[in-house]
Amino acid sequence: MKIVLASRNKHKISELQTLLGKYIEGIEILSLDDAGIYGEIEENGNSFSENALIKAKAAAVSGYIGIGDDSGLEVTALGGAPGIYSARYAGGHGDDAANNELLLKNLVGVSDRSARFVCALACVFPDGRESLCVLGEAKGEIISEYRGAGGFGYDPLFYFPPLEKTFGELTAEEKNKVSHRSDAIKKLAEALRSREIK
Ligand code: IMP
Repeated sequence: MKIVLASRNKHKISELQTLLGKYIEGIEILSLDDAGIYGEIEENGNSFSENALIKAKAAAVSGYIGIGDDSGLEVTALGGAPGIYSARYAGGHGDDAANNELLLKNLVGVSDRSARFVCALACVFPDGRESLCVLGEAKGEIISEYRGAGGFGYDPLFYFPPLEKTFGELTAEEKNKVSHRSDAIKKLAEALRSREIK
């Protein structure tokens, strides 16, 4: 079965190939480029799920099943911010250092440090009429100092109590077992398998 992930990021393609491949035999993940879909997809939804669905629809134009993803960090004391704006919290897209600094600044003196990473994965079937969406999460706390040099984004500030480490202190393999993304992929595989899509 071929599936197009609405991404040009080779890391994301191979991550989904590895993780979804564990659950569904013979699956092949293609990128937008592989599927001949060029140009930007406008992510103008109001939630992780809406954005994931917008991307999945664009990928399904290929004639294959389309998958779209959207993820980010929600901090309880900040009313769910940075949320869907996680990548550009401090203004510039993907400026991890500035995003982390702003997060720490906004949490000065705040005692409730609970937060969660969320990953929405949407799947649109080729005729465009049917779709499904799953939400994965990883619950933790935002600490006040950076710990660990692994991962990306908010990982060095995201403390994960079950492992007593930040995501930045985990190896890629360890993070893959507990992350919001792997939780969402597991749920997506279950949903696809229950529809007997093989
Ligand atoms: P994307 O939807 O995967 O592009 O993620 C959007 C933004 O959410 C990233 O730029 C990061 O700031 C944040 N984010 C998503 N997943 C993670 C993660 O696993 N670790 C740290 N930050 C993440």
